[in-house]
Amino acid sequence: MNIEKILEYQNLDTQIKKLEEALENNADQKAMNSLKKVVQETKNISASLEKEAEKTITEFNKMQKNYNDAKGALDRLEKSQENDYTERQCAECVKQLNNIAGFLASLEKVMRQTAEKVNSILSEYETAKQNYETAKNKHAAHKQNLEKLKVKVEPELKKLQADLAKLEGGLDEKFLKKYKNKRQDRIFPVVVQLRGNACGGCGMELPSAQIEKLKKDGFLECENERCHRIIYFKN
Ligand SMILES: [Zn+2]
Repeated sequence: MNIEKILEYQNLDTQIKKLEEALENNADQKAMNSLKKVVQETKNISASLEKEAEKTITEFNKMQKNYNDAKGALDRLEKSQENDYTERQCAECVKQLNNIAGFLASLEKVMRQTAEKVNSILSEYETAKQNYETAKNKHAAHKQNLEKLKVKVEPELKKLQADLAKLEGGLDEKFLKKYKNKRQDRIFPVVVQLRGNACGGCGMELPSAQIEKLKKDGFLECENERCHRIIYFKN
């Protein structure tokens, strides 16, 4: 591995990273990220409310059917009283009438409660929808600002990226793959100098045998499992 070439590559990449971070840490981008969360949360609320409203409406319809069935039965019983009945049959009819009347009264109560629930769900849903719309509009405004910034930064970024791609040709493929993975995992810089007897990235002390190897080969991979940076040695 040619450490000079690698460092040249990393230095150029550091400039790219700075521009990328400037875009990422931009106030509009941050606002967009938090709005994205609001939009997603609101969407989730809307979805669950919609589901609940559907469920309640189904319940309500089922109850209404029960109510109608009971009312039909009551009407039939009332009509049947016009005929001649024995005393025992009449008593049975009265009992049924009372049963149905009681049932209807409690059913009416439940139906009223259900209707109230549906109304409150619908109004919650309406609020969530409005929040969603507000967040969406704000998001669009921030996005526009960010687009303007990108137009300014992107030509420079593209140029640097093209220069970086040219440098890739002179580097070891396996190293590049590792480098890119580390960069993606936000472990940067990937290639660090030996600092005293420690990794210049994570600060882990290296055993003397490793230091010897590093001095002989010029580079070494840090053994800290959360680091694995390339450590290089320079006289
Ligand atoms: Zn390390």
